[in-house]
Amino acid sequence: MIVRRRWTAAATTAILISAALSHPGTATAAPVADTAPITLAATETALVRVRLRDQAQLDRLVASGVDLANRPRARDGRIIADLVLTGAQLADLTARGATATQVVQRAGDGSRHFADSVRAARARTAAGLGAPAAGQRTTAAVGVDTLAVQQAYWWTTGGQTFLQAQVATTATDDPDVEITVSWRTADGVTGSFPLYRFEDSGEYQYHYNVPQSVPSRPVQLTATSSLGGVSRAVTPTLWPNATPPPLPAGYQKDFIDAYLTPVDIQARIKRLARQYRDLVDVIDLPNKTQGYRRNAVAYLGDPAVAAVVVESVRFGDQGLNGVQVRTVDPGRPNRPLAVGYRDRVLTVTLATDAAGKTVSTTDDVAAAVNARQANRFRATVEDGSTGLPMPVAGPARLDDGLQGTEVPAKPWTVQALRLGVHRDGSRIGVLAYSQEHAREWATPLVTLEFAERMLANARTDPATRELLEQVDVFVIPTVNPDGANYSFNDYNFQRKNLVNHCEGPARDPKYRTSWGVDVNRNYTVGSYFDGYVGASANCLSGNYAGTAELSEAESGNVIALAKAHPNIRFAMNVHSYGGYFMWPPGAYRADGRITLPRPSIDESTLFLDSARRIVGAIAQERGTVTWPSQTGPVADVLYSAAGNSADQLYYELGIFAWDFEVGNDRWNPATGEWEGVGFQPPFDEAHGESQEYAGGLVELVRVARDHAAAEAATG
Ligand SMILES: [Zn+2]
Repeated sequence: MIVRRRWTAAATTAILISAALSHPGTATAAPVADTAPITLAATETALVRVRLRDQAQLDRLVASGVDLANRPRARDGRIIADLVLTGAQLADLTARGATATQVVQRAGDGSRHFADSVRAARARTAAGLGAPAAGQRTTAAVGVDTLAVQQAYWWTTGGQTFLQAQVATTATDDPDVEITVSWRTADGVTGSFPLYRFEDSGEYQYHYNVPQSVPSRPVQLTATSSLGGVSRAVTPTLWPNATPPPLPAGYQKDFIDAYLTPVDIQARIKRLARQYRDLVDVIDLPNKTQGYRRNAVAYLGDPAVAAVVVESVRFGDQGLNGVQVRTVDPGRPNRPLAVGYRDRVLTVTLATDAAGKTVSTTDDVAAAVNARQANRFRATVEDGSTGLPMPVAGPARLDDGLQGTEVPAKPWTVQALRLGVHRDGSRIGVLAYSQEHAREWATPLVTLEFAERMLANARTDPATRELLEQVDVFVIPTVNPDGANYSFNDYNFQRKNLVNHCEGPARDPKYRTSWGVDVNRNYTVGSYFDGYVGASANCLSGNYAGTAELSEAESGNVIALAKAHPNIRFAMNVHSYGGYFMWPPGAYRADGRITLPRPSIDESTLFLDSARRIVGAIAQERGTVTWPSQTGPVADVLYSAAGNSADQLYYELGIFAWDFEVGNDRWNPATGEWEGVGFQPPFDEAHGESQEYAGGLVELVRVARDHAAAEAATG
C-alpha cells in the first residue's frame, strides 16, 4: 500500500489539453438557478460543463487541440461541453459568451478522492471490516414533412420513469424545423416536450431528447413538426427489457475498496494469481512501455525574455536529473562559441566581437549544443526567443519534473490475467481491457472487480463455475500504466501515454501536460493515417494519433494479445465517463461522412441484442440505465474516433468488439438536470461504477457462452 505520496496538480498547460463534450441536461427548459457564476482561480485546472455560445466556438476549441470524450450536443442552438480548462481559459470563454453550468471535478479532487478511498479502506481493514456494501443509490408535400419515429423507449430507475424518443423528419435540410413529442400515460396523464436536431459532420441525423422525466409508464407517443407533419402514434417500448439471471444466495462481490494505482494493480494481479492458482495465468504482454520517465529539462535564460530549452537525451532518472547548464562570457574579445561538459555542468561559452561584447544568439547556442553534445543533450530555441541575443544565464538545473516517489522508474511490463478452467484455446475467448486513457481511474476497478467475481464465485457458485468451464477470459486492467502513474502523481487530467514525440518548440516544458499519444487513436483500422476523422497529427492534441499506426507499445500489446489467442471472439474496451455502450463502426471519413463498413444485419442484431442483455445487467446493481440514444455504433452515438482499438479488433480480427463509457450521468431530481460524474469522482461513485459494470462484463461472458453454444448447435 502506498504510504507517502506527493501530490501536485500541475496547472501550467498553456493550451486546452482535453475536453469531454457532452450531452445537455433535460430537454425541458429547466430554469437555470440564478446563482453566482462559476469561476476558477486563473491557474486552477478543472473539468467544467460549459454551455458554449455556438458551433463556431466549439470548432475553435477543437482546432486548439480539444479531445472529445462525449458527443457535443446542441440545446436551444447552444452546445454543451465538458472541458478541462484553467480559470484563465474559462474566463476567456465566458467573456466570449459561454456559461459554466457545473464544475464536474477540480484538479485537486482526484488526489483527494484517491487519498480518501485509501484512508477509508485502511480504516475498514483496521476495524476488521470488509469492503462497504454496494451503494443502494437509487438511483413531403410542399410545406408538410413526414415524420418517422425511430425510437421510443421508457424505463424506470430510482422510482422515476423516463422517456426518450428519436424522430426523423424528411425535411432534412431545414435547420428550423421544430419537432414536439406528445405522450400519454396509462392513467391518462398527458404532456409534451421538444426534440433537438442532431447533426454530425454537417449532416442531419435525427431529432432526439435526453431522457425526459414522466409521471408513470407512457403508453402512447406522437411527434408533430412545425411544418405540419404528424407521426403515427406509437407505444413506447421498455428499455432494455432484459434481466440477467438472479444472483444465487451467497454470491460474492465487492472486491474494490479504494482507487488503484498501477502499482496497486500489479499487486492485485499477483494476489489473484496466487489465490486462484488453478484458474489463473498471468500473461506478460510483449511490449514493455517507456516507463514513468522523462527527459531532464531546463530553461537556459528567462523564457519571458530570451531562452533556450536544454534537455537530456536520456531520461532524468538515468543520472541526468541535477545536471546544470549555463552560459558564460569569456571576458576576452574575438572568441568563438564553445561548448563543454564536465563535472555534470554543461557550459556554453558565448562568442565575442572585437570589442569583447558577446554576440551569440539563442539560435547559435541551440545549434552549438546540438552539434557538439548530441549524445548527451538536445537544445531548442524557446518559442518567441528566435534570433535574440543569448544572455549570460544559469546555472540552471535539469530535472524530469516527475513527482511520484513510489513508482519504479524503468520500463513497465503490462500484464493480462487469463481466467478459466481450460486455458488452452479450446473455449471461446472474451477480452476485457481498461485504462487506455490514463485519467479514467474507475475503469480498472471495473475489470478487476469482474475478474475477482469470476474467480471467487467459481469455487462456490456452480453457474459461475460453468461459465469458466465454457469461456476463456482475458483481462488487461491497465493498458496505459505510465500515463496512469502520471495521472496519479503529477497531472490528474492526463489522458495519453508518456511518450513525447514532439519536435521543436512543442518540446517546451510548459507543454509537459500535453505530451503523449492517445493510445485509442493509434490502431490500424480507419486510422488518422487512412484519412479518418477524430484523431490529430498535433503532438499536443488530446487525441494525437502517434507517429504511425501501432507506433506505441500500449496499443501493440492489446493487438498482440488478441492475435496470440484467436479463440477471442468478444471484446470490451472500458472507458469513462458518460454512460455509453458502443460498437463498430467507430470512424468515418470527413468527406461525405463515409463510415467503415456497417456490420451485416445478422451481426447488427447480435450487437444490439447482446447490448440489451448487458445494459440490463448493469442496471441490476443500482438502477443505472444506459440511454438508448447512447447505445449503438460509435460513429452514430458518440463521434468518429479514428484508429480506435475496437475497430481493429472487429474489422481485422473478426472479434465482436464493444466499448463501455462507464460513469453514467446522474439524475438530480431537485434541479431536473442530468449531472456529469467526471473521470475521478468521489470514491463512492467510482465504487458504484465498478460494481454495476462488472455485472455487465459477467453478462458479456454469458453472451459469449451462448454464442458458442448456438454455433455448436448449428454446426
Ligand atoms: Zn477513454
